[in-house]
Amino acid sequence: MVNLKTQKQSFKDKRSKQVPREEWLVFQGKHEAIVDETTWQAANDIRQKKRRNKPDSLGEPHPLTGLLICETCKSKMHHNRGTGKRTNKDTGEVTTWQKNYYTCKRSKHGAEYCTGHRINGGVVEELVLDVLQRVSQYAAANEKDFTRQINEMYSTQQADNVKAGRKKLKSDQSRHAELDKLIQRIYEDNYSGKINDKRFEVLSNQYEQEQAELEQAIAQLTADLDSYDDSTDRAAKFLELTKRYKEFTELTPTMLHEFVDRIEVHERADRRAVVTTQKVDVYLNFIGTYQPTIEQLEQAGLYTADQEQDPVAEAAHEKRMAKLLYQREYKKRRDANGGQPLGHFAGKRPDERTPEEIASVEAERKARLKEYHAKWYQDNKARMKAEQAEKRAAMTPEERAEASAKRTASRREYEQGYRERNREKHNTYMRERRKNQREQQTAILSKTPTAIATAI
Ligand SMILES: [Zn+2]
Repeated sequence: MVNLKTQKQSFKDKRSKQVPREEWLVFQGKHEAIVDETTWQAANDIRQKKRRNKPDSLGEPHPLTGLLICETCKSKMHHNRGTGKRTNKDTGEVTTWQKNYYTCKRSKHGAEYCTGHRINGGVVEELVLDVLQRVSQYAAANEKDFTRQINEMYSTQQADNVKAGRKKLKSDQSRHAELDKLIQRIYEDNYSGKINDKRFEVLSNQYEQEQAELEQAIAQLTADLDSYDDSTDRAAKFLELTKRYKEFTELTPTMLHEFVDRIEVHERADRRAVVTTQKVDVYLNFIGTYQPTIEQLEQAGLYTADQEQDPVAEAAHEKRMAKLLYQREYKKRRDANGGQPLGHFAGKRPDERTPEEIASVEAERKARLKEYHAKWYQDNKARMKAEQAEKRAAMTPEERAEASAKRTASRREYEQGYRERNREKHNTYMRERRKNQREQQTAILSKTPTAIATAI
């Protein structure tokens, strides 16, 4: 039941004016509810959080729109969507991509307001789905344990909050009373001429403003303290929700707003990096950031160590991460190099490379490989020798004789092969050498005597 939707400005003013929503007098529970309170609350939340969540020229809004909050400045995050363009620096090729990421609204005004807090929409969706599935499965399967944990969590937290709230309320109330006295005093001082009208106006404005702010704070605190009393059935309310949404593999906006209060996104550990860590706190309705531990899930039979590890997906993920990390490192080195491309061909495409460059790069590569092998042998020589000695010591004399014969045979085979493999090479070399000598002689003989003297 809603009363006092309009109100007269003052007794002198006959016009009525729309009263802000927060000041409507709402009498709860006076009539029999048509929808239960939770559903009503959720529907109301959607109305408030998703005011602008209608499909527009960019299509359907993201299901999490309105739920993400910047952890630093507590403002709502903006969902960036639509089509973006990307130009390849080297080829000039333009490709398009679908934007789907959130950023802090205040970061648009520059770093002095807030920073980006950029996060991918798909990543948050996955995370929220994961959190919801885990918590609701656990809660539904272990109602008793779940209820006990929630009650414990809230009773300590609530006790702390109530204590802090009472303290703050007391200090606010005493300051409010003090301001009353101060206002009274400046009235008297102004009347008696101790302070002039201008000074009086400044002071009284200041005091009255502070008082108005205090009144607001006091009202909020009182309401908060009252609400703690009916927070005992949090677990029950959450369980009710889990029963309504038994099995889910997808997040619908209604369900999201019934389950999720807000999602606080921290700034990325490395703001510019492609791969980084980022903390995200998912606050669920009624139970806050509660989540069962791995041990509790294991005990409830809802988690096994290898459950989440699909080896193929894991390997693909590792590979992708390694590539991204390499690209990040490369970019750093490239920036350090004054933006110039690095690498053996200095950014040249295959068709731009000269045979000399290719040969020199190949020679370098071979030298590096040789060095690597030599180092590996140096590092592993002792170990390999020790292993061989151990193997030999464990052999019977017959085995040893057999192994020795085998080694000799294999060495002979190799030597024979080497000669054969290199005979052609040797012959070619000799042929070339003879040919060169002949050509040189012919050249010398065909030249003039002066030329002969120079050539020799
Ligand atoms: Zn922010």
